[in-house]
Amino acid sequence: MTQGFIDDNRVMEEVKKAIAQTLSIDTEKIRPEDSLVRDLGAESLDFLDINYRLEQVFGIKMARHFILEHMEEMFGEGSAIDDNGQLTEKAVKLMRLRLGQESEGLQPGMDMDQVPPLITVATIAKGVNEILATLPEKCTSCGSPQWKCNDGAPIECSACSQGAAYSTGDDLIKEWLTSVQQEHKIF
Ligand SMILES: [Zn+2]
Repeated sequence: MTQGFIDDNRVMEEVKKAIAQTLSIDTEKIRPEDSLVRDLGAESLDFLDINYRLEQVFGIKMARHFILEHMEEMFGEGSAIDDNGQLTEKAVKLMRLRLGQESEGLQPGMDMDQVPPLITVATIAKGVNEILATLPEKCTSCGSPQWKCNDGAPIECSACSQGAAYSTGDDLIKEWLTSVQQEHKIF
């Protein structure tokens, strides 16, 4: 269901804070369109740290694997990345559907190392929002339909105080890939 507790601004504020703390930079210097790798100097381990901070704040589970890894798992080895570590045409098609404008520079045959620099501050915020949008109708522990949210996050059950159980970031990517595959038959 659409959750009405945590708005986009609040999510963006927390994403910026998590990035600022991880990379030891000022929150004011971070813009939504910034690439974490290219503009802010993040390395792959920093993504884990940023995700971990957001998981603590919102009580969610961010995706552990990039979309390319999920494609390989669902559609077979070599489906997204060929023997030379380059993006396949099908992988690029799917990434364009997923990322829209942010994937404009993507071309088949490009090295897979070119993908992480596409991730922007806004991409991370979108990931958080997608997970929060899976807030269930009712508490999975006691069945109460009443949620509450103190201090802007996390959302918990009014009756038993259990934290809301959301879909994980990885589940959402898999669901998305399944529905896109059904619609577009890319693989
Ligand atoms: Zn409950």
